[in-house]
Amino acid sequence: MRKNLLLPSLILLGSLALTAACAGGPSGTESGQGGATASSGPAIDDQGIDPAKINGLDIVTDSSEHGSCPYATSYPAVPGADAMAAAMRKDVQQRLATFLGTNDGAQATDCGGGSGSRSGQELNISHQFLIASGDVLGVRLSTLDRGAAGDGLATRTYWYDGAAKAYRTPPGLVADGARESFIAALKKDLEGQEGVDAGQLDEVFGDPAAQTAVLDDVAFGTDGGMRVSFDRGDVGVPAGGRYAVAFSKETITPWLSAFGKRAQQQAMHPSGTLDLGATGAPEEPVPTHRASGEDTTDCTKVKCVALTFDDGPAVPEAATLLNHLAQYKARVTFFTVGQNVAAHPELVRAEAKAGHEVGNHSWNHPDLTRLTPEQIRYQLNRTSEAIKNATGEAPTLFRPPYGAMDAKVKAATTLSPVLWDVDTEDWKYRDAAKVAQTVIAKTEPNDVVLMHDIHPTSVAAVPEILRTLTARGYHFVTVSHLRTTLAPR
Ligand code: ZN
Repeated sequence: MRKNLLLPSLILLGSLALTAACAGGPSGTESGQGGATASSGPAIDDQGIDPAKINGLDIVTDSSEHGSCPYATSYPAVPGADAMAAAMRKDVQQRLATFLGTNDGAQATDCGGGSGSRSGQELNISHQFLIASGDVLGVRLSTLDRGAAGDGLATRTYWYDGAAKAYRTPPGLVADGARESFIAALKKDLEGQEGVDAGQLDEVFGDPAAQTAVLDDVAFGTDGGMRVSFDRGDVGVPAGGRYAVAFSKETITPWLSAFGKRAQQQAMHPSGTLDLGATGAPEEPVPTHRASGEDTTDCTKVKCVALTFDDGPAVPEAATLLNHLAQYKARVTFFTVGQNVAAHPELVRAEAKAGHEVGNHSWNHPDLTRLTPEQIRYQLNRTSEAIKNATGEAPTLFRPPYGAMDAKVKAATTLSPVLWDVDTEDWKYRDAAKVAQTVIAKTEPNDVVLMHDIHPTSVAAVPEILRTLTARGYHFVTVSHLRTTLAPR
């Protein structure tokens, strides 16, 4: 079997460990390895890349928290590679607009057809670093659109050439003069795979525009081999799923462009640091607030509220929020997304040191009820591991994205689920005054309030919330503190 039926489930795991797992092989027979990786959990972290080491990295995150309109997108913006970030932003915005039905220019956070109209749909775009060393940056975006045709999974790799200061699409890894030989070899390999239609291949590879569109996921393995991946239906019958062709280092090297050769070298022997020659702004300072001992607030005697902030940490919002909270000695709970924790562990550490609670909000914000138990465990375990690496302590709470939970999700984890009492819908209303008013008007003693610290408008609402609720006698406590002090003794 050369078909690649296991890849979609692997990709859903969010890590897209497929390059590390599969590109080592000399041929396209990766399903065995894929299965092994899927069952072994979060063992391989991409290609050993630590995004926290990328100076000035910004993970651009957007998401809703409503099951009626479930979307979550992310892509990395790396200083110096602006043209590449722009290409990713354009693709992400296009896919989001299509999902939301706002191609006509309606507000991006509107859910097009309105709430309740997109049951069964979900858009999730997550990222994976392929190479981030020397003067080479490679990123893969994985899009899962459950409303789209086929299995709705599409992957695309983006490349940046720091020496030429140029954004490159995957065909740029191959030398112009070798394009014909490369395409011929691709076709030959694909023709040998079950379910591939030779006529479709001629159509796809005969037209330059179609060729570029279909050659959108090309990456190197740590052994220097190249792997070309095709979305479902691109080169074969849809029932065949995703297809892949793997070239050994010996085969592919003579066909590589100068940039392709440098990318291959960095895949095999990473220099360890990425230098795209960006002069960039200095890093945002990380707040150094310290909790003043144990929280002794007794929520059976005073009015308590647990403010919760999901989807972060984000730059610069997390630091701004920590400063606001410190002014009022408020403690809150952050439900962090693993891929953002990995990019900014220093912010998560600062949150914990300031006395806040850090909870788990999955690795890349999928609707967990749509995943297998194995995938759910992967999403939560990988995130808990990242939080523990950052703070020294594993979380005990999790908030399911979109509040979507069922018996399967509960059974897959020992983390305690946390939903909410007050929904600010701040992801929809990017309006600080409205967010503040909603919290102030709706909060009752011992409520859990849902907000998102990826939006500057939500962070800007916090001083007004803290000021007003403090004046009304409220104490701001973590979710665990609220639960502990309210638990019957
Ligand atoms: Zn969320």
